[in-house]
Amino acid sequence: MSTIFTKIVKGEIPCYKIAEDDNYLAFLDINPLAQGHTLVIPKKEVDYIFDVDDQLLGGMMIFSKRVALAIEKAVPCKRVGIAVLGLEVPHAHIHLIPINNLGDINFSNPKLKFSSQEFAETARIISANL
Ligand code: 5GP
Repeated sequence: MSTIFTKIVKGEIPCYKIAEDDNYLAFLDINPLAQGHTLVIPKKEVDYIFDVDDQLLGGMMIFSKRVALAIEKAVPCKRVGIAVLGLEVPHAHIHLIPINNLGDINFSNPKLKFSSQEFAETARIISANL
């Protein structure tokens, strides 16, 4: 059965898209730790990030860099933090999270709520900064 992220890649489930090319997709996390919290995935369905082949994994980091620099311009923050967990969705993904201090990237923190208009506007501003 396809992962929820493969369903997003196929357009079967909507997302707030940030960027896409032939191999990767970046979209807003639906339960964000911060405004602009973004997920970068390979379109190819691989569960564990360290099972992604070298070339695809290397490209995923370069794609993430481009997205992170756009997030940094769009959302006021000191840095864009990067994290990989993969405990919930079995489809490799990188979290890109705007942070100002250590506590901002604690996954035990309560998740933020945004309206669909707010999500769409955040995605629009980040995309405009790519
Ligand atoms: P992890 O697998 O890294 O532990 O967590 C998976 C992440 O994917 C979580 O931050 C969760 O909010 C996000 N997520 C789970 N399902 C969806 C979804 O359907 N759409 C989006 N945009 N994010 C999701």
